[in-house]
Amino acid sequence: MNIGKLYLNGKWESGEGVMSVENPATGEIFARVCIVSRRRLRVALEDAQKALPGWRARTAADRGSLLRRVADALDTRAEAIARIITRENGKPLAESRGEVAVAADHFRWFAEEGRRAYGRIVPPQVAGKRHFIIKQPVGVVGAISPWNFPLVLAARKAAPALAAGCPVVLKPASAAPLCALELARAVETAGLPAGVFQVAAGKADELGAEMLENAICRKITFTGSTEVGKKLIAGAATNVTKLSLELGGHAPVLVFDDAAPALAVTGTLWSKFRNSGQSCIAANRVYVQRGIYGGFVRALTGAVKKLRVGDGLAGAVDVGPLISEAGLNTALAHIQDALNRGAKLAAGGRRWGKRGWFLEPTLLLDVPHDALCMTQETFGPVMPVCRFADESEGIARANTSEYGLAAYVFTTSLNRAWRVAEALEAGTIGINDAVPSTSNCPFGGLKQSGWGRELGREGLDAFLETKHVSLGGVDG
Ligand code: NAP
Repeated sequence: MNIGKLYLNGKWESGEGVMSVENPATGEIFARVCIVSRRRLRVALEDAQKALPGWRARTAADRGSLLRRVADALDTRAEAIARIITRENGKPLAESRGEVAVAADHFRWFAEEGRRAYGRIVPPQVAGKRHFIIKQPVGVVGAISPWNFPLVLAARKAAPALAAGCPVVLKPASAAPLCALELARAVETAGLPAGVFQVAAGKADELGAEMLENAICRKITFTGSTEVGKKLIAGAATNVTKLSLELGGHAPVLVFDDAAPALAVTGTLWSKFRNSGQSCIAANRVYVQRGIYGGFVRALTGAVKKLRVGDGLAGAVDVGPLISEAGLNTALAHIQDALNRGAKLAAGGRRWGKRGWFLEPTLLLDVPHDALCMTQETFGPVMPVCRFADESEGIARANTSEYGLAAYVFTTSLNRAWRVAEALEAGTIGINDAVPSTSNCPFGGLKQSGWGRELGREGLDAFLETKHVSLGGVDG
């Protein structure tokens, strides 16, 4: 079995130990990856600091052309990388191919957006002065990514940081670290200078502590659970480290009586079951208005029952495994809790197959609002549905969560679409759109879903400092 080396300061290194990577479709270990200690991460941060002056001094156009080459390198190996994503994460191959395409698009988009790190000139309030606002790279960035979109969420951090002129040290999730090595391979192929992009896998709390306590690391960009996000917030006090936090979600779906039924069914289905429900913007709570409830639920039940479960590499598969046995057990516990509280099982409900961490796509109806799946992130293919009476009740139900990452609305009324979009407490609203996230628009959460935004113009700004230069004595 090959052991994946880490990409540190422009070289592939063996590290100081190894960790195993499991295929969640079989439960078998299929790869090993080197890991490093906190001490080696410190050296990586120092190397990144050495690379900073040269990288930030390049023009944005120059950095952009290198980032486009990273995108090209990802495209060249797209099929091989997609298969790696499916093996380490479990998602169907078609979704993995889409993930590689989106990651390449992030690099191409930020390759261009890096040129638009505009400052501004502000008219003076005092004679003889001039005021210039300039944008400059934050400095060395520590990036921590999760396993659920192992390539795209690493790219979402690395591309804007590099475009802004910041070297990046990436710590990938231990459950799915191989994609980060593929990203490093693309960076190497593209010819980025040593130290500008490094990958350091290892024990999360140790490496996280080094990023927080080492003053070289000026910014940490993190995607993961709210629980770990809160630890980073506490740890950031040491050096007042800047943080971007993309945390948990518990997205509601509101299906109004005036929704286009077919669009509402396929949209709700897709936003729940892609990546086996392990998406931070997955539809976790489906609220359906009384008038459309019966017909909608009948069509949805039929569609859920048609979903094909299986190994993502096996061809025609819609839903792959969960990432781990623990993830499967959480989802099963949420199902049982809902049934204990009186919910009706319309589809699924049981473990699927004898090996790997599969769950039948599950549809629960008339789920009480205090059920665990209505209040906590299930992170699995479990869809709880309940009814609401009118617009104000729907909005109130949707906004009950402590999370505020995404929300979905199905309606054909333009006026209602605007009213509800303005009232919902979420950073991304999909109106008749189950896949609202895109390279050119900001993405991030309200409430306990996080701080800051990735993607879009805001995604670049997250890696820029704003500096005011005041010039006096100009008028003699
Ligand atoms: P997680 O346990 O928080 O892990 C995420 C990353 O943080 C991993 O690389 C993990 O490393 C690392 N980590 C764990 N403990 C740490 C610590 N003490 N200090 C520093 N880093 C630490 O989350 P997950 O289970 O992988 O991902 C699922 C969660 O992420 C869900 O809540 C989901 O909603 C959220 N998510 C949010 C977004 C978004 O954009 N808002 C996107 C995707 C996922 P190890 O793997 O080595 O433990």
